[in-house]
Amino acid sequence: MTETYQPETLALRAGIERSQFHEHSEAMYLTSSFVFDNAEQAAKRFIGEEPGNIYSRFTNPTVSLFETRLAALEGAEQCVATSSGMAAILSTCMALLKAGDHVVASQSIFGSTVNLFNNVMKKFGVETTFVSATDVAQWQAAVRPNTKLFFLETPSNPLTEISDLAAIAALAKSCGALLAVDNCFCTPILQRPLDFGTDIVIHSATKYLDGQGRVLGGAVLGSKKLMEPVYGFLRTTGPTMSAFNAWVFAKGIETLKLRMEAHSANALQLAQWLEQQPSVARVFYPGLPSHPQHALALKQQKTGGGIVSFEVKGGKSAAWRVIDNTRMLSITANLGDTKTTITHPATTTHARITPEARAAAGIGDGLIRIGVGLEALVDIQNDLAKGL
Ligand SMILES: *Cc1c(COP(=O)(O)O)cnc(C)c1O
Repeated sequence: MTETYQPETLALRAGIERSQFHEHSEAMYLTSSFVFDNAEQAAKRFIGEEPGNIYSRFTNPTVSLFETRLAALEGAEQCVATSSGMAAILSTCMALLKAGDHVVASQSIFGSTVNLFNNVMKKFGVETTFVSATDVAQWQAAVRPNTKLFFLETPSNPLTEISDLAAIAALAKSCGALLAVDNCFCTPILQRPLDFGTDIVIHSATKYLDGQGRVLGGAVLGSKKLMEPVYGFLRTTGPTMSAFNAWVFAKGIETLKLRMEAHSANALQLAQWLEQQPSVARVFYPGLPSHPQHALALKQQKTGGGIVSFEVKGGKSAAWRVIDNTRMLSITANLGDTKTTITHPATTTHARITPEARAAAGIGDGLIRIGVGLEALVDIQNDLAKGL
């Protein structure tokens, strides 16, 4: 399908290839391998002379459906599916970096991604410098002659800081480095990083693409040229997406636009309501005019998204009281689910970093993160009000 279709149409129809049964809903191809007509066809498939499936670690029709659909939404030439979001980040690094290379990364990125750069990639001779998500001058100052990759998430977790995609992409380009953006929080419905000069988009499909907290998966997207080594790494080493999970994601994407709009509408109203609560010191949400980068957020994103964080007065005990007084919200570190989730970052997702590093990152003991779901707003408010 061409890009002349609107996103909600692409989400439903991109990538459909019906089998001989002409099924309406997309089929799930649960098979490890594929059968050839004869020895000659097998030989041609193996040397790439004839297109077609061989083995599901290489390609699978249901995985291809998911890849085509997500690529259409992100406006990418190619998408490569992975077994999780972390597998997507690992595969990108292993495919595009080598010993002696240097990475500049935002300090406000997913905890496991920090570990991947600090522990895994470091072991293979790749060094990483962490800089402010929002201060482009710091990115420029961190560049070395061997800098090959810039990496960031926007909005960041949990403080919803916004990185200037166009400015950082231009800087990366001028330094001969690639910019990779983890687009997990916005999804292509709200933000398309490739439109701002980003080279590579990464997803934890586990979050909003499924949207119902069922399965793990990830994806890497970009030009055919950049995706070829990423696909090659995956095909050889194996952290690929299962056909079952690909089917769940492909069907999940069909409602992505409706869900992202509903998540965002609930989140904006919840953020506005939280700002009026006397026990709340500060609310972090890109859709609020009080957000320091509200204007930049509006330039890059259609809406503020579904993640709202807020700082309660009274530190950890006050934050835990809010969490423990809820009856409906799910106390879980996950996000991007139809069901609203509530997290205390300082003692869970960010517990392993030192108190000094947490303070420097602005993650206070009174901070609470909400992955706003699709329940009635009044029910979410009433549940939070119990402990506020
Ligand atoms: C969850 C998450 C990841 C990791 O994804 P998994 O599917 O859990 O491996 C990466 N980046 C962000 C922003 C995430 O929220």
